[in-house]
Amino acid sequence: MRPYECSRCGGLLDIGDGVCPRCAAPLGFALPLDDVLVLDGPDGDGWVRCAEHPSLGCTWVIRPDDGPRCESCRLTRTVPGDDDPRDHAHLVVIEQAKRRLVVQLRRIGLPIVDRAADPEAGLAFDLLSTRFEPVTIGHADGVITIDLAESDDAHREMLRAQLDEPYRTVLGHLRHEVGHYFWGVLIARAGRHEGFRALFGDERASYQDALDRHYAVGAPVGWQERWVSAYATMHPWEDWAETFAHYLHIRDTLDTAGAFGMSLAGPDEGTAVGAVAPSGDVDDESFWSVARDWTALATALNAVNRSMGHADLYPFALTPPVIEKLAYVHDLVRGAT
Ligand SMILES: [Zn+2]
Ligand SMILES: [Zn+2]
Ligand SMILES: [Zn+2]
Repeated sequence: MRPYECSRCGGLLDIGDGVCPRCAAPLGFALPLDDVLVLDGPDGDGWVRCAEHPSLGCTWVIRPDDGPRCESCRLTRTVPGDDDPRDHAHLVVIEQAKRRLVVQLRRIGLPIVDRAADPEAGLAFDLLSTRFEPVTIGHADGVITIDLAESDDAHREMLRAQLDEPYRTVLGHLRHEVGHYFWGVLIARAGRHEGFRALFGDERASYQDALDRHYAVGAPVGWQERWVSAYATMHPWEDWAETFAHYLHIRDTLDTAGAFGMSLAGPDEGTAVGAVAPSGDVDDESFWSVARDWTALATALNAVNRSMGHADLYPFALTPPVIEKLAYVHDLVRGAT
């Protein structure tokens, strides 16, 4: 996510900042303006804080008539009924990631319809605690279920290692699950089944059989040639959701790199990392050129991470069949804008 600028001191702001780290101005993010406003200055006129500011630390502002909750908090349909402190801490982390998701979707032209506006197909989030019952992360008919414990670093890292996944984050879960929601919007309700099946396979194959097979025998040998992750091999729906999540990862990270003016001129001309200037605005580009920029940037950032002893920033490889699927998502997103 690209940084914003404090209108009082000119300092750089993150979308999650509630107070300017440089001049201490109180801040609020206004989704319709895609901007962080100084609330006790002229640009804060006519904006009020989301009702979830005191409890969940929501940093968004709304017009008084649109309240009491902001466009992101409003999407949350269910939370644990009591105020257990651990659940509450997890909720804060998930809501923060959800706000990033909502901003990006709007920015790329895929605004979401909330459940209040469309009770059958609108989007809603159930953020549930395993203190009450086992929680399975997933999506069904516009409702995304997230296990609150996924925002606990130790718990999530344990699962990541157990499942042998190279990457597992709260934002990654949200991007994957919202991908299932957009399958309904961009494929099913738009009647694009044939085009989808040509690339991802036939989604009418039994999901339960696919699930059982995946957890019994794992991904097919050589899966890396055709799928972006092992999980994507399970069923065409999961391939789509994984591909969609990667599309959001790539666009957001390129957007950030572009905003900071990052460019790559080495180590050598003619290598994968030669002379690339990531552009934040990729709407007019074919995904093949986006993928070239991204591969170069990810190669460099992975090397930077390794220098710090961290795992790779982007532990995945984009092969031509994977890029073809990402290009399909790109074309649908551009068509929806
Ligand atoms: Zn400031
Ligand atoms: Zn809010
Ligand atoms: Zn899924």
